[in-house]
Amino acid sequence: MKQRLTILGSTGSIGTNTLDVVARHPDQYEVFALSAATRVDDLLAQCARFKPCYAVMASPAHAAQLAEKIKANGLATQVLQAPDALEQIASHPEVDAVMAAIVGAAGLAPCLAAARAGKRLLLANKEALVVGGEVFLRAVREGGATLLPIDSEHSAIFQSLPEDRNCWARRVQHVLLTASGGPFRTRDPATLRDVTPEEACAHPNFVMGRKISVDSATMMNKALEVIEARWLFDLRPAQIKVVIHPQQIIHSMVQYVDASILAQLGTPDMRVPIACGLAWPERIASGAAPLDFSQLAALTFEEADARRFPGLHLSWQALAAPRGTTTVLNAANEVAVAAFLQRRIRFDQIHAVNRATLEAVRPSNPDTLQALLALDEQSRAAASQQVRQFQ
Ligand code: NDP
Repeated sequence: MKQRLTILGSTGSIGTNTLDVVARHPDQYEVFALSAATRVDDLLAQCARFKPCYAVMASPAHAAQLAEKIKANGLATQVLQAPDALEQIASHPEVDAVMAAIVGAAGLAPCLAAARAGKRLLLANKEALVVGGEVFLRAVREGGATLLPIDSEHSAIFQSLPEDRNCWARRVQHVLLTASGGPFRTRDPATLRDVTPEEACAHPNFVMGRKISVDSATMMNKALEVIEARWLFDLRPAQIKVVIHPQQIIHSMVQYVDASILAQLGTPDMRVPIACGLAWPERIASGAAPLDFSQLAALTFEEADARRFPGLHLSWQALAAPRGTTTVLNAANEVAVAAFLQRRIRFDQIHAVNRATLEAVRPSNPDTLQALLALDEQSRAAASQQVRQFQ
């Protein structure tokens, strides 16, 4: 039996890598639905190749454009419009697995829909878990879904943990998330105020979407991953450590109580964790080149410099604060990164917006999707106000 897949955010970096892996295994996977926000022609090309039943665009105008082109090309794909249609294709009874690869909190509602419908949920969209926290995990539990991490660090931890979750608390001392350090690891911190969006998006090892590229440059990506790890692996915040490893060969590690450390290694290629999530617990070819140890000069490690990466520590602060604070942090960061990419604030002001928004918004224990979305909106308004103060 083929697995039928919905890919949320199929035109992005994770989405296209997922389709690359899927295309290598036509006997095992079938694309049921795809989605995008604005890239109509990219989604059209994907529909022509993978022949999904449904394609979802984020706005009525883009959905109309796609529907016209689908018709002109004689394709049978039905075009629908977000947001309701995203939840529909994520929870459709004919779907087995959902790749959550939308960027930002916009992915939360369809992730919850997939979780409640008991799907195999492949989670790249870390912001959904950072925003959703316990509400997200409750939906997974109650829906009987299988949550599999796609972020390479969390996939590495998942692969380095015993399959039986019941022994994690007894055996694991802490996890070590590795970080590349991004493009500014060695740049003089005094010059970070001059960083341009082009420089921030030039990641040394990966071609990724613009938002996660900026997050990697500020290390807010790692901050979000600390929060993601807390929820995925039910860890105390103090059990999550970060170490910079510029070569990105070790994708993360688990240290056990006997001081033994298990790690997962490989070339930095997102198709590896994607293939792992798609096939788990089986293994399938990913298309990634294997590691050539004779070509590896050295594996190096260093501590994150708090002056260069002040945002990293906001994750532990937010986890120690009242429930909902991670939702505030995520919203602030999405607004700040968008403002930086639009050249409305400087690179170093991203952190200032995040910190000020955390001080301005006090969450009151959001426990439903509606409460989370309201808090997200309130935090975005507060962050936008901070952005205006810098202009
Ligand atoms: P991209 O920006 O490349 O792609 C995002 C996808 O989501 C696109 O298909 C985009 O459509 C769609 N999208 C954007 N905004 C909305 C919206 N408001 N509503 C519906 N759809 C939307 O991002 P990435 O693929 O880089 O990242 C996706 C997620 O995966 C992020 O959460 C990121 O943190 C995570 N991740 C990414 C990694 C990577 O290597 N790229 C590694 C690990 C995690 P359109 O193309 O039309 O704009």
